[in-house]
Amino acid sequence: MKQALRKSFFASTVLWLMLGFLLALFSAQIAHAQGFDSSSPPDLMKDFEVLRQRIRKNPRDIAALNSLGIIYAQAGKLDDATRLWRYALNIDPNYVHLYNNLGSALKQLGRKDEARLIFRTGLTRSSSYWIHYNLGLLEKEDRNLPAAAICFKNCLQQQPGFEPALRQLADLGYNVQLPATTAARPLSLGSYKPPVETGNIDFYPMYPENPEKQQNGRTFSSGSYAAKPSKSTMSATFTAMSLADCDKIIKEFKAESKDRFIALTFDDGPHHANTREVLDILRRENAKATFFVLGSRAQTYPDIVARMAAEGHDVGNHTWEHRGLGKSSRTEALQSLQRTNELISGITGKPCLIVRPPFGQTSQRVKELIHSQGWHEIMWDSDSRDWENKNPDRILYRVMRSVSPGSIVLFHDIHPGAAQMLPTLIKAFKNNGYRFITISELIAITNAS
Ligand SMILES: [Zn+2]
Repeated sequence: MKQALRKSFFASTVLWLMLGFLLALFSAQIAHAQGFDSSSPPDLMKDFEVLRQRIRKNPRDIAALNSLGIIYAQAGKLDDATRLWRYALNIDPNYVHLYNNLGSALKQLGRKDEARLIFRTGLTRSSSYWIHYNLGLLEKEDRNLPAAAICFKNCLQQQPGFEPALRQLADLGYNVQLPATTAARPLSLGSYKPPVETGNIDFYPMYPENPEKQQNGRTFSSGSYAAKPSKSTMSATFTAMSLADCDKIIKEFKAESKDRFIALTFDDGPHHANTREVLDILRRENAKATFFVLGSRAQTYPDIVARMAAEGHDVGNHTWEHRGLGKSSRTEALQSLQRTNELISGITGKPCLIVRPPFGQTSQRVKELIHSQGWHEIMWDSDSRDWENKNPDRILYRVMRSVSPGSIVLFHDIHPGAAQMLPTLIKAFKNNGYRFITISELIAITNAS
């Protein structure tokens, strides 16, 4: 009897799995056949194709299924997204992102009872503070205020001091202590990992029309790092550099051993392939780095962001979709930064305190905005200009012409060139006793000295 039951359970599971996969494939076909709106950014389409290929190779690739669902949702195809996430949950009911995404999408579709059920099911798997928070928002929207308050309290139990939950409780009339630095923050940022952005997805402008402006100095919160003159990176006579050439340049620095460190930074990712390659190289060369990610991309690739943190790298905030902070109103800029910050800390489980403004565009107003949140503004002093010419030899040359002990070097992990020259760069510095450190470590060193 028991065996028969198990058998029929197994058979029905298999049936559902097959059905789910067919549905997913079917919806993928439809989306592909219809194409996205002509306004869909090419990058989204590229990601879509890459993810579809990954799933074709391994239909049980949970991270890819989750990401593909987010792309559907971003393109306004919430029904396809929810079908895909349901299918993915059948494969791995412990992948917590799925509950959050599926619940948020169902809520957005007005299917609140289903959303509630999904959030609650998720909570039986993992007491994720995201899910408590999102369930709280749902209850609040339905005017179940005592239930909402319980959710926000549960959220705070998992993540003490989680400010959005504190604000929600305050909004419900609870007497809670709000952090003083953020009093100016707009109240509602909506649901946390909402797979939305339907239409009008303003991805970063395409290079090179809007190259990151070259900066001459680096700044931390108080500008405690003095600006230093940057050497010309655009020498007319370019020659490919070997490991020995790099070694010779580094030897001329004659830095004390305590000053022998470099901070590598990578902006604009995560990118499905290039970022993974950079991470592989950093792991192989045993070097740490900092990634300033876009919230819109981190949302699509939470697994890559989680890997960055797990492997000891820093994850910084590069805004939600790479809009210049100087061009946005204070409220818009703050929301873009805040939303990205909360997404990053939700994935990494650590507070995110560093911001790099897109294009390096900053001003007194932008600095004040960043500092008002207790964050550090991080620039660079050595620019690889890897968006300009993607030839790895040229990128290495530019870095070696502008780098010096203690430099913050700027790369973009959405371009493939940097990954190819990284091993030479890292080896050359390591041969000379240099360490590759994260921005957090750099700030700690700066504050200590
Ligand atoms: Zn950027």
